[in-house]
Amino acid sequence: MTLNLGKRLAPRPRRLPYPEPARTPEELQARLGREKVLLELAQRRNYSYDGIAMGATPALVVLPESTAEVVEVVRFARQRGLSVVPRGAASGLSGGAVPLEESIVVSFTRMTGLQIDPRARRAVAQPGVVTARIAEQARPYGLTYPPDPASFRTSTIGGNLAENAGGPLCFKWGVTGDYVEALEFVDFSGEVHRLERKAYDLVGLMVGSEGTLGLITGATLRLVPLPRHTRTLMAVFDEVGQAAEAVSAAIAAGAVPAKLEFMDRGCIRAVDSYLRLGLPREAAAVLLVDTDGDDPLVVEEELAWVAEACEGRGGRVRVARDAAESEALWRARRAISPAIAALKPKRLNEDIAVPRSSLPEVVRAIELLGQRYGLQVVQFGHIGDGNLHPNVLFDPRVDPEEKVWELLHEIARVALQHGGVLSGEHGIGLMKRDFMGEAVDPETLGALWAVKAAFDPQNRLNPGKVLPETNSQAR
Ligand SMILES: Cc1cc2nc3c(=O)[nH]c(=O)nc-3n(C[C@H](O)[C@H](O)[C@H](O)COP(=O)(O)OP(=O)(O)OC[C@H]3O[C@@H](n4cnc5c(N)ncnc54)[C@H](O)[C@@H]3O)c2cc1C
Repeated sequence: MTLNLGKRLAPRPRRLPYPEPARTPEELQARLGREKVLLELAQRRNYSYDGIAMGATPALVVLPESTAEVVEVVRFARQRGLSVVPRGAASGLSGGAVPLEESIVVSFTRMTGLQIDPRARRAVAQPGVVTARIAEQARPYGLTYPPDPASFRTSTIGGNLAENAGGPLCFKWGVTGDYVEALEFVDFSGEVHRLERKAYDLVGLMVGSEGTLGLITGATLRLVPLPRHTRTLMAVFDEVGQAAEAVSAAIAAGAVPAKLEFMDRGCIRAVDSYLRLGLPREAAAVLLVDTDGDDPLVVEEELAWVAEACEGRGGRVRVARDAAESEALWRARRAISPAIAALKPKRLNEDIAVPRSSLPEVVRAIELLGQRYGLQVVQFGHIGDGNLHPNVLFDPRVDPEEKVWELLHEIARVALQHGGVLSGEHGIGLMKRDFMGEAVDPETLGALWAVKAAFDPQNRLNPGKVLPETNSQAR
């Protein structure tokens, strides 16, 4: 089965400047410009990794500036029998942007066009726009773009769309996919498609497809009014499970906090040593919570519900007095990654999501697993969404990496046993691909391969990611 989206939704929009694809890398370079086609080994090597994994050196790296140039690269790849690996800022934590075989890395960092339409409350972005820029550019109009992965100062919107990225604001405000009105992408036959959410939700299919179905070349994103008031609190707990219980209790009481973040003792100590903020080093866990809205009374009331729920589970609550104190607390949250990275030579970051009701059991079980394996595990995450990031910290000179991977798989199993999923927001990519067989039944895997084949019959778009190869026969 081959989807012919091109004919139905978006006929080839323009006459191509060159009737035939380029035949050699040098010819492609002559067409696009020297600075956009990297041929030197030393240059290409810089595109073989992402935030977690190292892959093969790509055969070619192309940095297009327009959709037409993306089409040109895809035509070249097709003609040469090469695969294409899309890449944003390479901050991904599942190996998604890592090339595995003879392939062309398409880096979108030169496609940085961004227009804000305040009347329509929309942003139109090219894929290489750095995420934080969207909210920054919308702010003067009293608008914002809420999805805020902790990496938002480096990640690109293309990478966010491909991973359906979330962030601290996701509990109340939703994840990347909730803000997409329309998407443009290029498929492996070089057709350009524009998808809108009018009938079948093909936008929803493309969001989170991790670069395996198409190359996203543009997006129309919804903006929302900036909330006028925000309050912040920190609740400190003597036991990790109590913090998780407080989350459920606060939500059951009717609170819909804008941000609801969890840090365990390992994180608290690491961040405190890193920033010297005077965080409660003896605590087993803290919750950081923001409530927001336009009515200050409602914002206060919600904060009071959260405070009550935390105190009811043994938490000690500190409400930030002003914006500066609130900023200091959130600085602590943003510093988790560099702070824990400073503790041991290496770390591997898990990314699971479980039903909120299972959180107390899950965080306790993960803590015990770390003790059983004799490895340091620290946990944090967007706990309002049931999203946890247990990180295993280790020293490869003394801790065998296989043991670390075994522990990570055990953690993922805990999530599956509690009705959760393998990935909350970082994607399956390369890192969890071989684990898909445990998470998804063979029929569903077969159906996923059928979708992949409909978009990319030759399996040339980011091959080796998301779907385990053993099931490719099901196509
Ligand atoms: C310190 C730190 C904190 C983080 N915090 C969060 C967080 O809070 N929430 C969260 O969700 N993630 C988080 N991440 C993970 C990462 O930042 C996100 O997955 C982000 O969306 C990746 O964006 P990127 O531009 O770096 O994409 P890349 O890493 O370059 O690519 C990611 C995937 O998207 C594909 N891709 C990239 N661009 C395109 C395109 N234009 N078309 C099609 N496919 C494309 C790639 O092939 C790859 O599969 C964090 C990472 C770090 C290092």
